[in-house]
Amino acid sequence: MPGSVPRIVMKFGGTSVGDLERIKAVAERVKKQKDAGCDVLVVVSAMAGETNKLVGYCDALSDLHDAREYDSIVATGEQVTSGLLAIALQKIGVAARSFAGWQVPIRTDSVHGKASLDTIDGERLLGCMAEGIVPVVAGFQGVGPDGRVTTLGRGGSDTSAVALAAAIRADRCDIYTDVDGIYTTDPRIVAKARKLEKITYEEMLELASVGARVLQTRSVGLAMRERVRVQVLSSFEDGPALVEGELPGSLVVDEDEIVEKKLVTGIAYSRDEAKLSVRRIPDRPGIAAAIFGPLSEANVNVDMIVQSTGADGTTNMTFTTSKSDLPRAISTLESMRHAVQYEELATDADVVKISVVGTGMRSHTGVAATMFRTLSERSINIQVISTSEIKVSVLVSAEYAELAVRALHTAYGLDDV
Ligand code: ADP
Ligand code: ASP
Ligand code: MG
Repeated sequence: MPGSVPRIVMKFGGTSVGDLERIKAVAERVKKQKDAGCDVLVVVSAMAGETNKLVGYCDALSDLHDAREYDSIVATGEQVTSGLLAIALQKIGVAARSFAGWQVPIRTDSVHGKASLDTIDGERLLGCMAEGIVPVVAGFQGVGPDGRVTTLGRGGSDTSAVALAAAIRADRCDIYTDVDGIYTTDPRIVAKARKLEKITYEEMLELASVGARVLQTRSVGLAMRERVRVQVLSSFEDGPALVEGELPGSLVVDEDEIVEKKLVTGIAYSRDEAKLSVRRIPDRPGIAAAIFGPLSEANVNVDMIVQSTGADGTTNMTFTTSKSDLPRAISTLESMRHAVQYEELATDADVVKISVVGTGMRSHTGVAATMFRTLSERSINIQVISTSEIKVSVLVSAEYAELAVRALHTAYGLDDV
């Protein structure tokens, strides 16, 4: 149980530590939180654009680069910002020291590029905090079973922060970013998006998994399992230290903490989609297994699937993958052409997936019908549909992404008026 001194994890994303001025501003914010009597642990991302640059270097040298070397390269961005922030803190009189993932240690499995957390030993960090020193931990990185550096997948600093909050039994994990909370949809594309004071873990998990990148999906699942209180808020707005009482950002909470229940809580979109259609396959039992078995062996992640059977005894199978999996999916499907005997393979990477999410869907009908009607009124053709208990997703042509999200936002009564 947390002691009487509030223990807070403060995580700062890429734009929040984007240059030295921003890093100084972050140091002032950390100092304020510490001066208010809190024990503080800080987690940082790389400076905005830095990770992309490092990934670009690896890609430019080799398409099929060694994933272990990729990790040792891309993890450096966070190492730089953790050191810089420690210096900026020391400069204003706050004792601080940086920690690389392996120094904590943050142990992961060996899946380089997208490693999963194994264990985190919080003792060293707690010892540091007990001495009055602020640990500044490099997010996104850990150490694998063989001692090599690993990274947690893009956006992984959120997961580092939540995992560290669980490891040191923090009262709250504050995720500072470039927007002031979690909105009904991406506020950068819908001006009328409304800030949510609270959202359930479950809804945030679904929204993140279908493209709302404000929190990495894994960080939300972890927060839900470990009961970590997560707040998303802006590092660009000045404010007092956040100890208790009203919090300015958005909180991710259990369902029973939500007072105002809505049918649809949020809308997300993902441009990282590609559609594949395998056409005119002689219809017989075992076709789905014959197609999706080899795809899974080739590590192709399949998302939405529809099968339509014609009167002539052939069937069409349409499904989606991420854009990066498309080349592997095509070569796998081409290599099975003989065995499966399909006539045609068509692909389209110019698509976007739009999803509406809300726990209200469990008890109320009509969410999908509203979605289909709204899109048809705008003459937007739906190519693939999939649903889960609290989500409806459609695939549409990429050119309609913004129009569709805005129209749905209005249709579900989410506009900020
Ligand atoms: P950071 O570098 O701080 O981790 P990210 O770029 O990963 O920041 O995430 C913040 C961005 O998430 C925002 O700038 C916003 O455009 C985007 N975003 C997408 N969906 C939402 C949403 N529902 N609410 C808030 N932000 C969202
Ligand atoms: N710097 C990493 C990335 O850009 C991790 C993060 O920002 O969370 O993906
Ligand atoms: Mg992020």
